[in-house]
Amino acid sequence: MNNHNILLDIQNLSVEFRTDDGVVKAVNGMSLQIERGKTLGLVGETGAGKTTTALSILRLIPDPPGVITDGSITLDGEDILAAGKHQLEKMRGSLVSMIFQDPMTSLDPVLPVGEQIAEVYILHERISRQEAEKRAGEMLELVGIPASRGRDYPHQFSGGMKQRVVIAMALACNPKLLIADEPTTALDVTIQAQVLKLMKELKSKYDMSMLMITHDLGIVAEVCDEVSVMYAGRVVEHGTLEDIYEHTAHPYTEGLFHSIPNIDARARRLIPIPGLMPDPTDLPPGCPFAPRCSYAVEECGKALPASISLSDTHSVACILRQKEE
Ligand code: SF4
Repeated sequence: MNNHNILLDIQNLSVEFRTDDGVVKAVNGMSLQIERGKTLGLVGETGAGKTTTALSILRLIPDPPGVITDGSITLDGEDILAAGKHQLEKMRGSLVSMIFQDPMTSLDPVLPVGEQIAEVYILHERISRQEAEKRAGEMLELVGIPASRGRDYPHQFSGGMKQRVVIAMALACNPKLLIADEPTTALDVTIQAQVLKLMKELKSKYDMSMLMITHDLGIVAEVCDEVSVMYAGRVVEHGTLEDIYEHTAHPYTEGLFHSIPNIDARARRLIPIPGLMPDPTDLPPGCPFAPRCSYAVEECGKALPASISLSDTHSVACILRQKEE
């Protein structure tokens, strides 16, 4: 990948939460890259470290108890982990924005939605209130909501409409990277499809990159160019859609295909992956997937498998693939 084309570069990121019950190792040597204009799907079960990774990009890890202990995050050439408070405030919104699963995480229940979008412009672009309100109205129209509804409060909108308002707010300052954390999980299937379509259209209109966090491989197939599969705080497989869907290389990815209901495979019988993700306060010394892996051999319990390249676009961290090399 050409360096100039890379918008987001995360290398060897580690994040832990120091709690009374022990040190929760949420992210453990995570690396990923997103090219300009591309969408990366970050996939895995709850607790894999997906949201912690996303919050690290925005430097929104609650500290304490959260601490970024290692690694680097570079976004559009900016060293995120070294950025000061003012630089971060400037970057959030204009360089990177995030959409959460629950729209009410981002919306203020006591302010009309148009005013909330206008505030984003006032904060980041220092324009007059009148101009900001005009642009807020245009942004609402862009996501399919009449500008006149800018006077309404969040509770006057349905779930899908609220998520559209959040999208309008996230895109107000034309960020280069949009992070979407399970943005449609709380919506019913028809509305989900409409919101995904809207996000795809706006992504190409604004020529943004997107990090789509999801557990739904159907959504990934619909909107993503590449996929990183995450398990116990690390990427265990990365590739293009074709690499991951046609040439699945990691036993965990294989398990996800069998166990997660998705848009394309609703009729197929689901086979859940046996067991649970390892306790993040007490990770095993070898491959963290070993206790649940039907291919595990003795060696798997000895050392963490390194990531190896299967092709220019496809990599995997599994001992079985190292043996094939
Ligand atoms: Fe399974 Fe071993 Fe590969 Fe881990 S390293 S995924 S336990 S085969």
